[in-house]
Amino acid sequence: MAEGGGSCEICNKPARQFCSSCRGVFYCSRECQKQDWKNHKGKCKPYVLLKHPVYGRHLVATRDIRAGEVLLKEAPLVVGPKQKSHPVCLGCHKRVDGTTFCPACHYPLCSSACHYSRFHKDECGVLAKASGKIKIDKFDSTAHPAYECITPLRCLLLRHTDPRKWQTLSDLQDNVENIKNNSEMEGVIQRNTVDFLKNFIEYEGAEGSEVFRVCGILLTNSFEVKHNGQRIRGVYPQAAMCAHDCRPNTKHHVDQDLYLTIRATVVIRKGASITTTYTNTLWNTLQRRKQLKLSKYFLCGCRRCSEPSELGTHLSTLMCSECSVGHVQSTAPLDSNAPWACLKCGHQVQARTVDWGDQMLYKELRGVEQSTVRPLEDFLRHYQKALHPGHRFFVEAKFALIKYYGNHPNYRYRDLSREQLEKKVEYSRELLGLADTIDPGLSLLRGTVLFELQAALVALSKMLLSNDIITKDGSQDYMTEAVRYLKEATEILKHEPEMENGGLDAKLKVLSEELEI
Ligand SMILES: [Zn+2]
Ligand SMILES: [Zn+2]
Ligand SMILES: [Zn+2]
Ligand SMILES: [Zn+2]
Ligand SMILES: [Zn+2]
Ligand SMILES: [Zn+2]
Repeated sequence: MAEGGGSCEICNKPARQFCSSCRGVFYCSRECQKQDWKNHKGKCKPYVLLKHPVYGRHLVATRDIRAGEVLLKEAPLVVGPKQKSHPVCLGCHKRVDGTTFCPACHYPLCSSACHYSRFHKDECGVLAKASGKIKIDKFDSTAHPAYECITPLRCLLLRHTDPRKWQTLSDLQDNVENIKNNSEMEGVIQRNTVDFLKNFIEYEGAEGSEVFRVCGILLTNSFEVKHNGQRIRGVYPQAAMCAHDCRPNTKHHVDQDLYLTIRATVVIRKGASITTTYTNTLWNTLQRRKQLKLSKYFLCGCRRCSEPSELGTHLSTLMCSECSVGHVQSTAPLDSNAPWACLKCGHQVQARTVDWGDQMLYKELRGVEQSTVRPLEDFLRHYQKALHPGHRFFVEAKFALIKYYGNHPNYRYRDLSREQLEKKVEYSRELLGLADTIDPGLSLLRGTVLFELQAALVALSKMLLSNDIITKDGSQDYMTEAVRYLKEATEILKHEPEMENGGLDAKLKVLSEELEI
């Protein structure tokens, strides 16, 4: 980071002026800066890559960054099926039904044109050696092991097809040591990728240890991306430098051309770390840390993970079964074996028991969410003595409910009762408060909740007015609030991939017809 002075980028003279955007380069004069702009433009970024003893490489803001500012947009080094993938087309990652197969390698394709796709052309010759040996005949959602080697193979092939990309990929962190400590994961990689490539495909382009390392790089650095409707993975080397935080200050999205954009969701002060999240911000600490350990091989120790109340949101808090009023929280959230205790009466619960209960409720809620409103409301009622109102499972149920009310064909706005509309407003307000804490600013979570909240306010005000429960002035207050939220929601949602190209306008049109405004 530029402080004090340096030497001019152009003429090497001592220089004190610096690029005000990135503060990363010095110039002796305006003239030299002007002359360098063409070259500097591509490198001018509001952050630098620093090395931290604990967090490793991470990006730090070199100036104050505005909420909404695009921090980076980059193409992937490599994309391909996830480690566990059901059959997809190797040309475009669409789902396949088994009617078309690649004439050379016999992997299923969506159409014969995909044989020539840029994603598939290099690997096809390698995979062809195994043609006839690989049987892919189930086309449902079951993962097929023959897909585990595809993305690692695409990486390995870069060594010859694009040495620069290969070098960038090789420089990424691989976490091989940590993976080898997990015998189950180690076995899966060894069998389904390393041995598969060597013995089955007879691929000789890399040593076993190198194949293993590439798998580690993929597990550590991949982002999940959606391509042609399927979830695949992609490596974005600059984005991979963002540190993880369970309360991130950026969001990212991937467009149809697979470019990834990272945008600040809040103001990021100069000197602060630029963070992203590799987990679901709506999950509680127990589950987030478990998932990060399993998929990314690290144990998060961020502020949110360290606080028993999760920054006051109570996403993890249980209600005490002894005194029935006290909050039960972990006595040491960064130690998954630490007992939980009631803050009022001291009653203790074993970590095992809490974990077991979490898994039970997770299963129950998954079952319930498939159905509709009633079972979700029952779920909230049924567990109100066991879970804090802010608990993660209640949050999930409430989030599902605000999406049902007004949007589901059986629960259109005109069919909703006053009670249901008031519920939608109440839950949306709660979720907005939660979003302000764990995923603030221009996050997708806030945008989604604001959108539902404003619609509910408009519907409620119309209903109350037509039943003479409120006056015209009263209804104006609802509308003023709703307009403010709608403005903010559209500002956030307009950057989301599914809202671009008229998606947001279409959504607004449906809503205005629905609300008859
Ligand atoms: Zn100069
Ligand atoms: Zn600059
Ligand atoms: Zn295809
Ligand atoms: Zn092929
Ligand atoms: Zn954390
Ligand atoms: Zn108690």
